[in-house]
Amino acid sequence: MKNADLAALIRTIPDYPKPGIQFRDITTLLLDGPGFALSIERMAAEIASPPDLIAGIEARGFLFGAALAHRLGCGILLLRKQNKLPGRVTGINYALEYGHDRIEMHADAVQPGQSVLLVDDLIATGGTALAGTELLRSAGAKVAHAAFAIDLPDLGGAARLRANGVDVTALMA
Ligand code: IMP
Repeated sequence: MKNADLAALIRTIPDYPKPGIQFRDITTLLLDGPGFALSIERMAAEIASPPDLIAGIEARGFLFGAALAHRLGCGILLLRKQNKLPGRVTGINYALEYGHDRIEMHADAVQPGQSVLLVDDLIATGGTALAGTELLRSAGAKVAHAAFAIDLPDLGGAARLRANGVDVTALMA
């Protein structure tokens, strides 16, 4: 299967979640067993050495992140929306186009010096991934690489992450 074939498993939903947005929907890729398996193999192939942990970003980052963690033999840490985690949390606010959002993780989820690979389905402006990187780094983690199924390069997120010392890989643009 070629990358072009993987891209054919993604569909674009116009005007979701609001008018003017072209939403890239990966649920059709998840429905395709061989396509999902190949996505994880391709993501794994870009990882030079397995990290101590993967950090998956809620919610679709959990799906790719968990499968990749299983493939690489490492654990997965959850970066969740506000008030979802039961234990003591540490969090970070970040700006959206309109308003702001917050992600949190368990304060004891990562130890200083551990290497963490950030995983999400898609990078657009990079605001979410950059917030995750800052949160992990503030806990002492080393974040050198972030992996995505889809990069929307026109929105500049991958460039922002690279400018912050994070290597970015994506299966498709
Ligand atoms: P960013 O913070 O602007 O890079 O947006 C990325 C975050 O929003 C990720 O957590 C994505 O899951 C989500 N996101 C933004 N646009 C899309 C889309 O078109 N399809 C799927 N997820 C999206």
